[in-house]
Parts: sequence; C-alpha cells; structure tokens
Amino acid sequence: MTEPVQSQVEDKQVQMFKCQSCGAKMQFVPGSAVQQCPYCSHENAIPQSEEDIHELDFHAYLATQGTEDLAETLTIKCNHCAAEFSTEANVTSQECPFCGSEIVATAVSTKHIKPKSLLPFYITRKQGRGLFSKWLSGLWFAPSDLKRMAENDAKLAGMYVPYWTYDTDTTTFYRGQRGEHYWDTEHYTTRENGKTVRKTRRVRKTRWYPASGTVWGSFDDVLVLASESLPRKYTEKLEPWDLQNLVPHADEYLSGFRTESYQINLENGFEHARGLMDAPIRRLVRRDIGGDEQRISSMRTQYDNITFKHLLLPVWISAYRYKNKVYRFLINGRTGEVQGERPWSFVKILLAVVAGLAVVGGVVLVIAASQ
Ligand SMILES: [Zn+2]
Ligand SMILES: [Zn+2]
Repeated sequence: MTEPVQSQVEDKQVQMFKCQSCGAKMQFVPGSAVQQCPYCSHENAIPQSEEDIHELDFHAYLATQGTEDLAETLTIKCNHCAAEFSTEANVTSQECPFCGSEIVATAVSTKHIKPKSLLPFYITRKQGRGLFSKWLSGLWFAPSDLKRMAENDAKLAGMYVPYWTYDTDTTTFYRGQRGEHYWDTEHYTTRENGKTVRKTRRVRKTRWYPASGTVWGSFDDVLVLASESLPRKYTEKLEPWDLQNLVPHADEYLSGFRTESYQINLENGFEHARGLMDAPIRRLVRRDIGGDEQRISSMRTQYDNITFKHLLLPVWISAYRYKNKVYRFLINGRTGEVQGERPWSFVKILLAVVAGLAVVGGVVLVIAASQ
C-alpha cells in the first residue's frame, strides 16, 4: 500500500529539477544560492527573484477563498499523527518524520493556499547532526538506549514547516479600575516584657477608582505555526526567526527537503494570532489606566486592516518512539537553536539521589566522629 503512494508522489516531483549532466535529482545546498547534484556535484544557480513579498488582504481572501492562489499538491498523510507532507526524493525510509512511526500512508490531493515566501535552510544536515549529538550528550538522566536509537542518521529530516503571519491595527475598548496607594496609621496592641502595650504603625492601602477608555495598537508579523504535528511549546522556543530575510517562494529551495502542508487554516490561524496579541494589548490597557495598580474587568478589540502572509520556515526534525511515547527534537534551520522533548531515566535519577544521600550521610558521620 505504501509503495504506490511513494512512487505517485515522486512522479509529481521528478519533473522538478534534473541534473543537466547526469539526470539525477538536484538538491538545494543549505546556506547557499545553488542546487547541487548529489552524484556528480554539478551546480545550478537559483535565480534570485527581485519580486516583493506582498501582504494579502485577509477578508478579501476569505470572501473569494483566494481561488487563483490555490495549488493542488499530492502529499502523503500519516495515519498515526495526521501530518501531511511531501515525500523526499530518493528516500526509501518509511518512517513519519513527525511521530517516528511506520507510515501507513494515504496519498491525498489537496488544495492549499500557496506559500509566497520562505527562509531557505542555512544549517546543513551535518551541522544538524552535530547539534543533535551535542544535545543528547547533555542529557544526564536520559536512558542510555535512547541515545543509541536517536543517533540513527536517517531520523533527521529537513522539513519546511508552514506558518502564517498577520499584520493588523487594533482598537480596544476597556473598563476597569485604577488603584492608587495611600498610607494609613493603624493602632494595634502587642506584648512587650510581659505587658500589653498599644502601638501604631503605617500601612499601605489601595483606593480604587473606575476607569474606562480606548487604546490603539499596531501589530506586524504576528507569527503563527500552521502545523498541528509539532509541539507548539517547542516551536515557539525556536524563535526568533529572521523574517527580514524572507525570499520569494521558489521550488529550487525545496529540492532535497520535505514540505509540510498547513493543517490550521487562514481563519483559525488568526484565532491563534488574537491569543498572541492579548498580552501586549493588556499591557497597553494597563498603561492607559495608570495609577499604582490596575484591574481590567472587560475588553473588546476590533481588528482592522488585517493582512497575512503564508510562509515556510526550515526545521530539522527527529522523532523517535521510546516505550510507546513519541519524543521530538527540533532545530531552527537558520540559527541552529535546539529544542527537544526527552524521557527521563528513573534508574539514573534514583542512583543520583542515593549517591547524594550517601554524601550527606558521610558528612554526618565525619562530624559525629570528630566530636
Ligand atoms: Zn549529476
Ligand atoms: Zn506521523
């Protein structure tokens, strides 16, 4: 069942880039502006586009469903974790790069909004592998067989991960309270030298006044992960991305890598963006309320001039299964920032605790002996 899927998807990709001297598939070389043939080292320069990367209007796009910008792609979908991605040419491994399980894949043909820009890979596979081993060797309490398992080279996949970015102007109406501190004198009794004495002390109190108003904000490139196959708490830690270096989308950069399709659509992506804008908007409101303390009882935000971009960001991914759980390791393909999930070895932790107790026990013994 997996075999025909693989070849179908490959057929779609074969037309892409063939080496002019030997006919093999060309691959993008991270950190460069060329594709190279892995067999004869022939190089092709990637044409550098001067095209501007435009922001698109959010509401106009949703109204028309952006029919002219949809691309139909043939991808494979993992039945375990529902990740949907293109397959890598020349790769026979049948493991899902997102969850590490054997792929029982189905080929799906879907219409997606085309990514208009991307950041090309800068970190090479070799560097990625180095970062991975370094991370592994820093894991004191990891089970030893995990290290052996994770060092398997085939498990590091270069993936272009889908993202949305949103720009918007916000107007927020709020109600709340402004708290102002003041000092008060309090009388109290206490016992001193067996006698009850009356004393006074200064205490800080807060007086609350009603507050309401409007604040305006302007947001640029609020970044939202459009994948559901990667743990958000780790992908957020891969930031920052050098979005100022985005290049117009060109298939040449994708050769030799895989591309994931978005699972969070344009509209739902904006819901996540609203969540990300909440904390900065609250800061604006608190500043507007002023005083020494602030309470916000209600807040209503209007979003105007919403524009978006759909882009791809480069991530090296390794997924491994250990005792029926999936652990993932991610590298920012631009900066080399590393994030990962890890299991803990209880045996190792227990041994360390016992060793720690032994040290404490030894100290107590020494003190006892010296007295
Ligand atoms: Zn060649
Ligand atoms: Zn999977």
